Amino acid sequence: MHWPLLDSHCHLDAPEFDGDREQVMQAASEAGVMGIVVPAYAAPRWPALMALCAHAKQPVLWPALGLHPIYIAEHEEASLQALEAQLISSPELVAVGEIGLDRFLPELITPDMWHKQQRFFEAQLALAQAYNKPVIIHARRCHADIVRSLKRVKFSQGGVVHAFSGSVQEALAYVELGLSLGLGGPLTYPQSRKLREIATQIPLAHLLIETDAPDMVPWPQREQHSDGRPRETGERVRNSPAYLPAVFDAFCQLRPESPEVLARAFWQNTQRVFKLTQPTFPPLQLE
Ligand SMILES: [Zn+2]
Repeated sequence: MHWPLLDSHCHLDAPEFDGDREQVMQAASEAGVMGIVVPAYAAPRWPALMALCAHAKQPVLWPALGLHPIYIAEHEEASLQALEAQLISSPELVAVGEIGLDRFLPELITPDMWHKQQRFFEAQLALAQAYNKPVIIHARRCHADIVRSLKRVKFSQGGVVHAFSGSVQEALAYVELGLSLGLGGPLTYPQSRKLREIATQIPLAHLLIETDAPDMVPWPQREQHSDGRPRETGERVRNSPAYLPAVFDAFCQLRPESPEVLARAFWQNTQRVFKLTQPTFPPLQLE
């Protein structure tokens, strides 16, 4: 039995999927994943992302465009104007993303790069605000900076802090600003004590599930192949939107609500955050 699920964050356009994207989408569909939000990294790859989403039928793919902070060195000023042009010409865009700030990598926090990160983040927040789009935020080791930027531009369109990692207090600061939190594979790890607190202490209406594929492989798939054979040590494992049920199962084990209530809530939360009108939650249960 598969619950109908929406993956709120998956980089299905990534080169890792070039060889077998159709099969990955079919596997996701068979696992109950009926829709996927596909956020962008960098402007040169926007056209391919848009084309992929336009042609996909099952699952439904929703595009988001943005300039990811990890690639800050590559981003050009002109890409901000290009983003605005896309927001005007492409009503199918469901969000501005993936955008944000990252303090994890030393090359991203030289004074120049940090300044550029903040400038591009706030410029994209302002565009999302102007065109009534939610945002998909990447935040590593800089929740206070993100909150400051959100307040500085008076951002009010909502969105998601994806792959959230932080304290309950930090999570609640986002909730207060109208944002939701996306949790994925790391929640399934035995050592994820802090994330389990987030999953249980944050109101259900502010939680989304995601895979962030091809990264962030859930624990069961990291440990073994789909046929049960254990992985080799050091074996490189690619995450897939078809593994979203592992994240959903982790929530089912942690939260008091029934799986049906949870499935419905995650579906509706994703629809609300991204202002999606279709598809409606299907009649339970999928075989
Ligand atoms: Zn991502």
